[in-house]
Amino acid sequence: MATPLEAVPWIHGAPNCRHSTDPLIQVHQFDEDTFILRLSKCFSFEGNFIYLLFGDARAIMFDTGARPDSGTKDSVLPIRSTVDTIVTHWLGGRGLDAIDLVVAHTHSHGDHVSWDQQFGGRPRTTVVKPTLSGVTSFFHLPNWPDGQAGLDLGGRNLTVLPIPGHETSHIATYDPRTKSLLTGDMLYPGQLTVQDWPAYRRSAARLASFAEGHDVSRVLGSHIEMTNEPRAAYPVGTTFQPDEHPLPLEAAHITELHAACEAMGNDPHVDVLDDFIIRPLN
Ligand SMILES: [Zn+2]
Ligand SMILES: [Zn+2]
Repeated sequence: MATPLEAVPWIHGAPNCRHSTDPLIQVHQFDEDTFILRLSKCFSFEGNFIYLLFGDARAIMFDTGARPDSGTKDSVLPIRSTVDTIVTHWLGGRGLDAIDLVVAHTHSHGDHVSWDQQFGGRPRTTVVKPTLSGVTSFFHLPNWPDGQAGLDLGGRNLTVLPIPGHETSHIATYDPRTKSLLTGDMLYPGQLTVQDWPAYRRSAARLASFAEGHDVSRVLGSHIEMTNEPRAAYPVGTTFQPDEHPLPLEAAHITELHAACEAMGNDPHVDVLDDFIIRPLN
């Protein structure tokens, strides 16, 4: 039995990143067809999580990662070579061009799209343009932010739903195989910054009603910024998180987020909850 996701020992930065021997990207194989990558906090304090899912016909990855922080000893994130190694292994020795790859994004912020260009020219690869029109046309979401879309990887049928608010082209993705809902920067154990409050509030309601109608075992976001103590976040920009919150949240956290947003109504303000902090920016 593999390590439960709650207990995976992630790389989490170092007290002195100059002396860190961590890889720039940690690869965790969740199951045969699902990989979770974590970027080193010694490369970027964002420490993003990137998701790579395989079906019989194609694979999809969500996000390509962050730029290095200033003063970082490495300047390039080896995301393409890391993904290619996983794909080659998954294919059991067949060439990289034996399966299609979609390079998609949870949303367009810099820490999620910065290495897209590494995938330009890769065989059988589509890089989804990280803009609202790029996202709505690739996933077929003509009524954005209403509606949802299916994306069949081949025996693995994902559902994509619009969740703008943190950012305008933000999507969530549900994977029935792992019963996971990928929520990017909208919901994760950390500081949930909100650019557009009314949109975010409506997205929280949409996520809640989606979760009511589906079997959601875990909610997987793009970062960890909380400690493992309730209501306690690391300082913004920290590059060492020895006691960080587990990556997965639960369906109950979606309900909690929705209730907190509704309680604020038209009067958004900072709300510190046990496992995340809602932080409207205006
Ligand atoms: Zn973001
Ligand atoms: Zn982010």
